[in-house]
Amino acid sequence: MSNSTAKLIVAIDGPSASGKSTVSREAAKKLKVMYVDSGALYRGATWKAVREGVDVKNAEAVIDLMNNTNWEFFIEDLVLKFTIDNEDPTDHLRSEPVRERVADIAVIPEVRVFMVERLRETAEFGDLVMEGRDIGSVVFPDATFKYYLDADPEERARRRAKELQETEGKGDVEQVLTSLKRRDTIDSTRKTAPLQIPLGAQVVNTTGMTIDEVVDRIVDEVNAYRAQA
Ligand code: C5P
Repeated sequence: MSNSTAKLIVAIDGPSASGKSTVSREAAKKLKVMYVDSGALYRGATWKAVREGVDVKNAEAVIDLMNNTNWEFFIEDLVLKFTIDNEDPTDHLRSEPVRERVADIAVIPEVRVFMVERLRETAEFGDLVMEGRDIGSVVFPDATFKYYLDADPEERARRRAKELQETEGKGDVEQVLTSLKRRDTIDSTRKTAPLQIPLGAQVVNTTGMTIDEVVDRIVDEVNAYRAQA
């Protein structure tokens, strides 16, 4: 499948806790298009590996596992969802075992090829906002709009710790900062599709901005484009 059927693709990349998840979800809602969280696929693969007792550093075993899993994609309330071998991993994607291992799975080139193919196929469902690390650079280099959201590491750690407080009742900023920096290093130094500012992307530093300000900027730009298209 190609992305030729999609009229509009908004690619939003950036490091962890740059605000891109909330911004992407809200922007998609306001634009009334599908929201795709590409990290969820990498997390899903990690969840499956942990569940099956596969060591994520053993690339061969991970590839073998991927080749023997069945992924089904569907849309629920304009959000892309999926099952792996008929199980919905949604509730486990943010768990600690997944969080700590996902960057290791994402360095495996064959895993990336697998995910990029699946992600491109989602454009068959229609217009979309997709967030990730390599959306504007690798998955959809011809995306209609490309944004790269960033924020200072301390600000990102504060945001993620607050999220963890809300979802898990605990979240230590220092611990989160260490974990974020570790993932940033792995994500930006890996050989295949490292985290980078995609060619032609607009860089938005969200440190001093509210979520609404970032969302409005994107939505206004996309709507202005739609109005003339
Ligand atoms: O965005 P999220 O924090 O859920 O992503 C989890 C991990 O998945 C990232 O740290 C990165 O290792 C990997 N990932 C990736 N490419 C993407 C999306 C996520 O390598 N497009």
